[in-house]
Amino acid sequence: MSARNILVINCGSSSLKFALISQAHSSPLISGLADRLGSAEASLAWWHGGSIRKQLALPGAGHTEALERVLPLVDEACGGTLHGIGHRVVHGGEHFTQAALIDAATLAAIQATVPLAPLHNPAHLLGIEAAMRLYPQLPHIAVFDTAFHQSMPEHAFRYAIPEHLYREHSVRRYGFHGTSHRYVSLRAAQLCGLAAGDSSWLTAHLGNGCSTCAVVDGQSRDTSMGLTPLEGLVMGSRSGDVDPNLHGHLARSLGWSLEEIERLLNSESGLLGLSGLSNDMRSLEQARQRGHRAATLAIEVFCYRLAKSLAALACALPRLDGLVFTGGIGENSALVRAKSVGYLGLLGLAIDKTANARCIGGVTGSIHTAGSPRILVVPTNEEKQIAEDTLALLDAREGR
Ligand code: ADP
Repeated sequence: MSARNILVINCGSSSLKFALISQAHSSPLISGLADRLGSAEASLAWWHGGSIRKQLALPGAGHTEALERVLPLVDEACGGTLHGIGHRVVHGGEHFTQAALIDAATLAAIQATVPLAPLHNPAHLLGIEAAMRLYPQLPHIAVFDTAFHQSMPEHAFRYAIPEHLYREHSVRRYGFHGTSHRYVSLRAAQLCGLAAGDSSWLTAHLGNGCSTCAVVDGQSRDTSMGLTPLEGLVMGSRSGDVDPNLHGHLARSLGWSLEEIERLLNSESGLLGLSGLSNDMRSLEQARQRGHRAATLAIEVFCYRLAKSLAALACALPRLDGLVFTGGIGENSALVRAKSVGYLGLLGLAIDKTANARCIGGVTGSIHTAGSPRILVVPTNEEKQIAEDTLALLDAREGR
């Protein structure tokens, strides 16, 4: 069978990312980003084979107009041979335990999950509907961030609150970044010559959003994010775990509204809130070098909380085959890796300084000392995983 091509689409409320993944190439044939959609500043930028960059102003364009511009670029890049479209969808609730062909029932189920992801799922639906109008002849597949974590046992996904809130209102832990945790744990097993179905990993996805995961035999057994992506680690601008009573405390003592408290915890906290400087780890590392006290503290809190989460998730593992770092921070910050692993001596983990310094800028590798469980840096590739899930579902449908 000849190599097949899958277009991967990831829609936000005012953005649209795309990547054309070919089975015959390791990097996308073309990838790009349309942002500020719906405004006069809307624009589209794209890259061929990861290098040449082009840009186009699209004043006033929405998702459909942006996709109309993307379509000929994609057709040109794959010679008109597109086999399917994989759509990233953040929340699949309990309904989706794996990727799903998008039909009327799937659309209704994604719609039903909107209350759980009020910012993300409506944007995904906009993108899906625009793409289905423009490519009606192609199969469209939804790949969910939450699906990988549906294998968590009930003792890991339930909150200690009355059961009716779970049964009647779906209040439970879901977890996110599933596509990334799945991809890097599969890659780690492959790199180490282990069978994914008989392996045991801790994974840390550290980007603007951050989460950890315990992956056993290819399945998520626990993860740090919960009902929403706010739970767990310190992130770029999200607080991660705080005392749940903080909400009531701020409301009573400062008279803050729900919207103000949610904005504080989601957009003004994390690295940004602690440092008062930036949500970007690169900027904080530079400020730390200059002796900036609050930036230094932000990095310390980030690393300690990361280590604490990893140690807690070790409870879900029968043994530890390795710890995997990924995401912009995990793939590039030797400092964060060294500091967080420094707290994990009780798990026997220890970092090799030279190897740690070498694994940056997309380099895959092992960074542990002899005698330590494996510590790996594995660049994530969510688009590739979405394309692979899309192809697997198409194969299953066609009985291949
Ligand atoms: P997103 O979650 O938006 O996909 P990324 O995975 O690209 O984000 O991660 C963004 C984070 O990675 C930012 O905090 C950024 O500062 C950090 N990062 C990128 N390169 C480096 C680097 N060389 N050193 C430290 N942090 C880096």
